[in-house]
Amino acid sequence: MVKYRYKEFKSVLNKLKYPDSWFWARYTLNTYSGCAHACIYCDARSQRYYLEDFENEVVIKTNFDKKLDQRLKRARTLLPDVIAPGGVNDAYQPIEKKIEHTKKVLQVIAKHKFPINIATKSNLVVRDSDILQNIATDTWCTVGFSITTTNEELASFLEPYSSPPSERFEAIKKIKKQAPNIQVGTYLMPIIPFLEDDDDNLEDVIKQSKNSGADFVLFSPGLTLRDSQANFFIKKLMNSKYNKVVKPLLELYKGQIYPPAEYFRKIHPKLLNLCEKYNIPVRVKRWIPSDYRKWNYKISELLLNKEYLNGLRTGKSGKTMMWAGLNLNNLEESIIDVFKRGELSQIKNFTGKIIEFITPYLEKTKDLKQNTGIDKFL
Ligand code: SF4
Repeated sequence: MVKYRYKEFKSVLNKLKYPDSWFWARYTLNTYSGCAHACIYCDARSQRYYLEDFENEVVIKTNFDKKLDQRLKRARTLLPDVIAPGGVNDAYQPIEKKIEHTKKVLQVIAKHKFPINIATKSNLVVRDSDILQNIATDTWCTVGFSITTTNEELASFLEPYSSPPSERFEAIKKIKKQAPNIQVGTYLMPIIPFLEDDDDNLEDVIKQSKNSGADFVLFSPGLTLRDSQANFFIKKLMNSKYNKVVKPLLELYKGQIYPPAEYFRKIHPKLLNLCEKYNIPVRVKRWIPSDYRKWNYKISELLLNKEYLNGLRTGKSGKTMMWAGLNLNNLEESIIDVFKRGELSQIKNFTGKIIEFITPYLEKTKDLKQNTGIDKFL
């Protein structure tokens, strides 16, 4: 039986140093602390979160909507950017149905016209598709359903209180129909070795995502196994009909948090090929602001996506390109102005190779009259 407790928190919004290239989030917020979805692999059980009993006691953050409203009103220096609710909790966990806590927060976000990216395992998010459609129309809205298996029995063992996978696919369909401006898709993560990484399951998740109308499938193989979270998960497996996977799982991880690089080298091309087969993007299309950051964000997206795809194909990560892409988000003027002054090399991590790669894109802006067709080429 889950206990619910109300508590007021001082801070409601956290600004990240860099947006990430997966969800493009610049701000995070958590309407709840703890998560009654109680997935047995959840990283919230690891010691770094200090969330004891996170699935049995859920804290509802009092006055969150009012505080966020004040924060966004007061924020002269707070530029609109993507907000991602739900860190180690799901903003649509069961209690949300009754108290509409996240819904009130969405109304504030819509009022201040901030873009949003929601990750959830619940079809309850469909309830708020009207608000999310307004956000999508005014700025940008992405909803991603975490779906890692189409096997309903396995899903109910791993994620006992979430919507079954079939309901999550159905939710993708409903959102596409009711709120077509929302970018919606599947977060195929975390993929659990020996339980979910077989070819049939991976293909089925991707195929059903496509058939449901998903705009993207973001995949991330190799569940993390960390201290108390790992112990909890392994114990659950051992006491279940899936106990045969414990041995190979432990042999694969060898006491590490992640599987070895070889595992990723094998599975990444497979996932990429499947997404290509079903013609489904493996990245979320980024929100682009209309102020001075416009080209910074576009070029950053270009660099980060290129680095990601290179990494998938070659098994090697291009850290310089990644850092160039990340740092560009923090440039306090438009890259176009820097380009016109011939000073691209002064931007952090902009090496000769990177400048050579992006110059053709920047060159094209010269020929275009302001605000006409400028968005088209990326
Ligand atoms: S929904 Fe997410 S936060 Fe909640 S228990 Fe599952 S993995 Fe953890």
